[in-house]
Amino acid sequence: GQTVGIIGGGQLGRMMALSAKEAGFKIAVLEPSIDSPCGQIADIRIVAPYDDEAALEELAEVSDVITYEFENIDYEGLKRLTEIAYVPQGAELVRITQNRVTEKEAIVNAGCPVAPYIVVNTYEELVEQINTIGYPCIVKTARGGYDGKGQQRLNREEDLSLAKGLIEHSQCVVESFVPFKMEISCIVQRNGYGETYCLPVGENIHVNHILHETIVPARITSETLKRAEDAASKIADQLQLIGTLAVEMFVLEDGLIVINELAPRPHNSGHYSIEACNISQFGQHIRAVCGWPLREPKLLMPAIMVNVLGQHVMPLSNSISKNPDWSIHLYGKAEAKVNRKMGHVTIMTNNVEETLVEVEKSGIWSE
Ligand code: ATP
Ligand code: MG
Ligand code: MG
Repeated sequence: GQTVGIIGGGQLGRMMALSAKEAGFKIAVLEPSIDSPCGQIADIRIVAPYDDEAALEELAEVSDVITYEFENIDYEGLKRLTEIAYVPQGAELVRITQNRVTEKEAIVNAGCPVAPYIVVNTYEELVEQINTIGYPCIVKTARGGYDGKGQQRLNREEDLSLAKGLIEHSQCVVESFVPFKMEISCIVQRNGYGETYCLPVGENIHVNHILHETIVPARITSETLKRAEDAASKIADQLQLIGTLAVEMFVLEDGLIVINELAPRPHNSGHYSIEACNISQFGQHIRAVCGWPLREPKLLMPAIMVNVLGQHVMPLSNSISKNPDWSIHLYGKAEAKVNRKMGHVTIMTNNVEETLVEVEKSGIWSE
């Protein structure tokens, strides 16, 4: 049989692997930690850092096609891998999306709107140039941030020093605070023949900068939906996408959109597609990287996806018997640390408003 190699052993890799296994593939995973969510279900585990040359060679050796499940892998290593193995996504997409500066340039080049921003390399530059952006604004490290780590909101001049810790360690972008009325995401997937499809657009609710809930379909007008899909498709074309690109967006009061950021992989906000669509983001991703024809995604029923963080695991397991309609996904992580993504729940419903209230009332997510 054929083997899909995956760089990265987290839950996204695990769910990719589950899809690939259904289609008959074996799974090889390269991941530094021994007991990762994806490693647990892989056929071949290569335990090494992402930039370990011998490990990359081994992955190339055993894999017929290689993909990745997160963007902070070593770009140089990935680039070398493209020369010795079949890596249909290439390395450029990772290079561009690893850095907010190149990412924003790509979005702008695709003709899509971003919040006004500047790039600063030192604290002095920040102090000097911040007035071109004004307050409130958000300082974000160019690289490596996730779940709101690596960013600082500044409401007034007196807050400037709060950004010192970030800017002293890395290049940053400073962007205007966007007074959005909603956050949405559009996951676009494309194969090497240029076939492109967006998954149904979801509405994302964050708590403490971590995705809490995704509601699908997003409660937006058809005009806003079209703007979101057009933007995602334009960015996918601009990047010559193969595989999956998640496009996070803000919806403004007037229904216009602003692109926040990109992720070159399946995305937490697309997990609902496992049950609620005729093709999941993971199944479509595997089809895309294998050069198979893509399926037109259809939403089977409205859905709510709720993330299960460390503090939610116990209350959830205590209430499983009460909720036969909840699809439970746990990622096999041993330590249920606070705010660590341990799993998610998907609920298909014909009454979203009522189900949102039920989720709230369950008390599972009150911490
Ligand atoms: P992720 O885990 O999604 O990768 P991240 O750490 O890369 O998160 P962003 O997505 O850039 O960070 O920002 C996290 C959240 O902070 C956004 O979802 C949004 O709620 C808020 N936010 C970020 N930038 C802005 C902005 N310019 N204006 C208003 N809110 C913002
Ligand atoms: Mg991010
Ligand atoms: Mg984000």
